[in-house]
Amino acid sequence: MSVIYNRVALIGLGLIASSMVHAMRRRGLAGEIVGTARSPETRQIARLDGLCDRVTDTAAEAVKDADLVVLCVPVGAMGAVAAEIAPHLKPGATVSDVGSVKRAVIDAVAPHIPEGVHFIPAHPLAGTEHSGPRSGFAELYDNRWCLLVPVEGTDPAATARLRALWEGIGANVEEMDADHHDLVLAVTSHVPHLIAYTMVGVADDLRRVTDSEVVKYSAAGFRDFTRIAASDPTMWRDVFLNNKDATLEILGRFTEELFALQRAIRTGEGDELFDYFSRTRAIRRGIIEAGQDTAAPDFGRGGTK
Ligand code: NAP
Repeated sequence: MSVIYNRVALIGLGLIASSMVHAMRRRGLAGEIVGTARSPETRQIARLDGLCDRVTDTAAEAVKDADLVVLCVPVGAMGAVAAEIAPHLKPGATVSDVGSVKRAVIDAVAPHIPEGVHFIPAHPLAGTEHSGPRSGFAELYDNRWCLLVPVEGTDPAATARLRALWEGIGANVEEMDADHHDLVLAVTSHVPHLIAYTMVGVADDLRRVTDSEVVKYSAAGFRDFTRIAASDPTMWRDVFLNNKDATLEILGRFTEELFALQRAIRTGEGDELFDYFSRTRAIRRGIIEAGQDTAAPDFGRGGTK
């Protein structure tokens, strides 16, 4: 594949950014990759590892002459980073992000984007529970979705170019409206994470009663919850603070269903439970058929970092 952007600047060098670097390098999609991170420690690791072609001390330096700037910091930090880089953006450049929430990021970032610079929010639907500059790998986005959320009036050519980059990185790309994105992600990712956090919290309380039994006998279901609940606390705090409405809407529905199941258990409604579980089993089959997971007992995650 050929170069899509001559210079790409990544602000934040964690799991998502470092995976982008490896994937862009795999196909030669960027002429030069410049990166920066908030802490001297992360910048030092990136320099030692040769993660980027160049690591700068500030975001302002990183975006100088960049054709594409991608904000790869927690959702709650996007606005401040946008304010910092705004005066240094090249006319005609594209600014994008990878935040897990879209409406709040648009509200925080768009006001800072100067005239003549394109702003195209994005969200790659891929991740692991690991974070930091050494957690990335080139295959993270292979056959995963990347959703582009162009704001009104965006230049279609700029969107097409960003789409080409994400497709080159390995993802399947679709465009989506910001509010719809936030609702879909509340169902597919945000509330499931909250449930995992809760379940692991409950088990932790129990552990005090039963000593180490919860850990000792933890079976696949619970182990998978602990993996999800090990995800970065800053990232997930910001997700819930910034996708409040959709998360609360889905949590309300979840609670209603949970109460219905609780009642079915109490009253011995076996048919109701059986029908419910049959319906959910079909959803799982659909996900496997769509190529978004495997039927392996570990959900195909054995090889992921
Ligand atoms: P990560 O591995 O924890 O890296 C976050 C990066 O942001 C680090 O370089 C960190 O700098 C920097 N940072 C943290 N707080 C900051 C602040 N207040 N100001 C400036 N920089 C700050 O996180 P990640 O998993 O790559 O996530 C990055 C973004 O991708 C988030 O918006 C997240 O919602 C989104 N996302 C994550 C996943 C996932 O599963 N992980 C999936 C899709 C999208 P230091 O290293 O110097 O602290």
